[in-house]
Amino acid sequence: MAEETIFSKIIRGEIPANIVFQDETVTAFRDISPQAPTHILIIPNKLIPTVNDVTAEDEQVLGHLFVVAAKIAQQEGIAEDGYRLVMNCNKHGGQEVFHIHMHLLGGKPLGPLLSQ
Ligand code: 5GP
Repeated sequence: MAEETIFSKIIRGEIPANIVFQDETVTAFRDISPQAPTHILIIPNKLIPTVNDVTAEDEQVLGHLFVVAAKIAQQEGIAEDGYRLVMNCNKHGGQEVFHIHMHLLGGKPLGPLLSQ
């Protein structure tokens, strides 16, 4: 059984977060330490620790993350200029919270994908 993270508490409303979208399968909230003018985390309500733990059962909810990302980008006014969607996995990917999350970053030119 995977261990819950702080994100499960955010989903259940047990700790404060700036939630911008929530439905029965997905929650989206502003990152506590934004790396761009818009920095929102979009997560499945179901706990999946890393991308390595994804199964075929998760296809629908993971597809829904993209639908929600596109909707939020419109709401934030960044859809036309563009944005970046990132999902980190494990140590080399820089993952810190082990409940998969899509970073939605935008609001300025983001530069090259990777920095040293
Ligand atoms: P990772 O490095 O795992 O891909 O990204 C984790 C992200 O979660 C980081 O950008 C970090 O700022 C954000 N984060 C960590 N704890 C919290 C929290 O309690 N609330 C919010 N809103 N964001 C958090």
